[in-house]
Amino acid sequence: MKHHGVAQWVDFARGFTSEPEGSMLREHLATGCPECREALDFCDKLVRLCLAVASNRAPEAVVRNARAIFPIRRPDRPERTIRIPIELIYDSFLVPASAGMRSSWQLGWQGLYRAGDCSLDLRIEPELQSSRAAVIGQISNHTLPETEMANIPICLRSGSLVVAETVSNRFGEFQMEYEQQGRLQLCVYLDGGARRIQVPLKKLVADKHAGRDRLNIGMASGKKRPGVDNR
Ligand SMILES: [Zn+2]
Repeated sequence: MKHHGVAQWVDFARGFTSEPEGSMLREHLATGCPECREALDFCDKLVRLCLAVASNRAPEAVVRNARAIFPIRRPDRPERTIRIPIELIYDSFLVPASAGMRSSWQLGWQGLYRAGDCSLDLRIEPELQSSRAAVIGQISNHTLPETEMANIPICLRSGSLVVAETVSNRFGEFQMEYEQQGRLQLCVYLDGGARRIQVPLKKLVADKHAGRDRLNIGMASGKKRPGVDNR
C-alpha cells in the first residue's frame, strides 16, 4: 500500500490539494489506513488551532522583540557601506549628577549622536541580575524633520556576527534586547544600506554595592568614569 507524506496531508487539511491528487488521497483514506488517518487528524487539529490563534493579534512590542531574535535576511544590502562620521552630543554619564537627577538615571544610560543629517537617540536599560539589556532608540533627520524614517534596518554587531536585528517603525523608533558583550556596535543602515551610522554600545552593569543599585560602565581597563565619583 502506498502511503502519503505529511506535506500532502497538511495541504489536504488546508484545502489546497488539487485534483486528481485529492481523489487519490480520499480513496486512500477510504481503505481505512490508520497511519494516514492519524496524520490527517493531526493536520486538521493543527489547522484549526492555527486559525484560532491567528485571530489574536500579537502586541507590537512582542512582535518587535521576536523580529530582533530572528535575523531578517537582506540580500539587497550592499557589501560596502559608507560610514557616516558621528558626534556624541549628549551622554548622561557626563552630566554632573545632582542629587535629584541621580535616581532617574540609575538604571540606564542615555545618549544622543549626530551623524550627518541624522540624530540618533539611544537609551540602554540593563536587566537587573542579568547580563542582558535592551536598547531603545529613535533615528530622525534633524535638517528635514519630515523625512520618512520607517523600516530602516538596524542591527547590533559583534565583529561580523549579528547579535540582534530589527527595523524602525514609522516614527523611526526601534528596540532590541540582547546579551551584553564587549565591542558591540549598533549599526543603522540608510539609503538602502549605502550609508551607515555605527556607534559603540556601552556595556552596563548593575552592581549592588553600598546598599543600593549602582550603575557602572563595565570596563576592565580601570579608566576613571567621568561624572561619577570614583571609589
Ligand atoms: Zn496510508
